[in-house]
Amino acid sequence: MGPVPGRSLSLHYFALALALQTTQTAPEASRVIVVSFDAAGYVMTSRLLAEGKLPSFDRMVRGGAWSDGMMTSFPTKTAAAHALLFTGQHGHRNGITANSVLRSPPSAGSRLETLNGFFSESLRAEPVWATAAARGLETYVFHAPQVYPFRPQPHLNVVYGYSEAISRGEVLDPKAVAGSEACEIRFTVGESRYRGVFLDDPADPTVGCDSLEIAAEPEPGVIVARVTAGDGGSFSEPIAASLEGPERKPAWFSLRLFMLSPDCASFTLYRSGTSALVTSPGDLLERETPTLRAYGGNGGGRAYGSGGFGPTLAQGGSGEAERRFLETELHLAGQLLEQARWALSRDYRLVILYSPVVDDVAHELYGYLASDLEGYDQDLARRIWPILEEAFAVQDRFLGMLLDVADHDRAHVVVVSDHGMSGTDKLVHLNVALEKAGLLTLGPDGSIDLTRTRALAPSLGDASVAVNTVDRPGGVVPLEERSMVLEELRGALSSLKDPVSGERIVTAFFEPATTGLLQPGGESTGDLFLDFAPSYYPSTAIGGSGMVVERTEPSGEHVFVPTRRDMLAVFAAYGPSIPKGVNLGRVQAIDVTPTILDLLSIEPPEDLPGKSLVPGRGVLNP
Ligand SMILES: [Zn+2]
Repeated sequence: MGPVPGRSLSLHYFALALALQTTQTAPEASRVIVVSFDAAGYVMTSRLLAEGKLPSFDRMVRGGAWSDGMMTSFPTKTAAAHALLFTGQHGHRNGITANSVLRSPPSAGSRLETLNGFFSESLRAEPVWATAAARGLETYVFHAPQVYPFRPQPHLNVVYGYSEAISRGEVLDPKAVAGSEACEIRFTVGESRYRGVFLDDPADPTVGCDSLEIAAEPEPGVIVARVTAGDGGSFSEPIAASLEGPERKPAWFSLRLFMLSPDCASFTLYRSGTSALVTSPGDLLERETPTLRAYGGNGGGRAYGSGGFGPTLAQGGSGEAERRFLETELHLAGQLLEQARWALSRDYRLVILYSPVVDDVAHELYGYLASDLEGYDQDLARRIWPILEEAFAVQDRFLGMLLDVADHDRAHVVVVSDHGMSGTDKLVHLNVALEKAGLLTLGPDGSIDLTRTRALAPSLGDASVAVNTVDRPGGVVPLEERSMVLEELRGALSSLKDPVSGERIVTAFFEPATTGLLQPGGESTGDLFLDFAPSYYPSTAIGGSGMVVERTEPSGEHVFVPTRRDMLAVFAAYGPSIPKGVNLGRVQAIDVTPTILDLLSIEPPEDLPGKSLVPGRGVLNP
């Protein structure tokens, strides 16, 4: 566990020498760069690391501290895990128990009313960026959950790409119309309208149409972008668009013409996602270029999943759809890289970065890699694995840039993720099961009738079920009957069996807890938490076929107990205060905020339950 004594000593002397060097001036300021790679789970990362596929990660692990996986929040959902990572408090304290939360206090809303857990309104604990900025440390945060709506403060610089003003990427499907001189298309993005003209570039040896020129209407004379078709092409320069939304900030998107037939009658044209980046302070990026301000939010996962890039490998495709999908992720990663470089070129003390690239790809593809699923196809898995590998490689190159900057700036780098991935191919419709058990009643319009419902699975996406007690509006169960209904609820869920194997679907119940490893529960969620047999994912949908169990396409999902091996996240740290080649063993997300504060030489607030993971803390940090 601990560092080799000799090495520790030499590092200690090094630190001393450094302290002596700087005694005449102010003590050297420690800098910290934190990056969260969404869904970069421990199982996948450590496998690729062992196979030598992640050179930057390897450099970080050899030159710093690694861990045998990190336990995050229960449920293992993105908003909840990030709130835990960046406040150092569990959901019952920080208010973010899943991607959606119930209103707080309970009297403020029924169990059918939910709020977005990615937004800051429900966050009740201080995030680490606020603590650092309050100490006067220049802090930059990009796209992290719960930064928005902003809580402005001096020294805190925030860039956020997931506000209301966002338009998802899509494969554009306008009909090409034969104009007088060329084939034209028209399309809209948000409130902006565009006209595209396919043409034969005389400089391009391809016979027939090979490129596309875009003009913004109503100024058709001005060409705003030009793209070349096929493998030789690339994403266009950023094109300005206006999105509806409260902030009225400009947004940019790019086009990628993956395929164009010579007669321009058929084409595959992808329009990247576009987000009107909101910032705090509001003018933070005002003078920066569109290249820096363009952000897609996500890659083309949705377009890929709906067949927009052509048949997928699972549908018998050639791998072309996957290559196109990866190109959209590479484009997104390039935007994040630009933004990170910009922040790191400034006088920063703390930079927090978030990247959704692996999550985008793993949701679509991880299900085909899960050998415990019924339809598992080894040949297909062998062809899909390299796609996921490439998504990790994209992140690894990003990490390489951060390590280079860290070496130059004598900064620390902390890498975290929020959860892993598990393959699923069955939904268990919890509310359908509760209806069949007589605990839940639907109204004539097919929605949950709270006046006749004793228990339900609120649509929080967190695998919780709730008793409809009178402490929330719409509640009908007196508080003294709560434990009786809970017993009934356990009975109903325990009796759910897999239609083929006859095995139990709900494999474990967890009570809300404010101590111990998992600590699920809190005011903003349900009363009982569930874990499931492999291959099952919970659904709160109602109606549909009326079946409790529904087969789906294989998918990558996360919500399950964070102690499950495939749910483990990663933690690694690197920099002057971190001894080389240390393995910290299994760590917990609760310790990440104290670690960041420690690296910044900030005394942690007394109510933080976690401890700094910096090895030999107090020896290397004067
Ligand atoms: Zn996530």
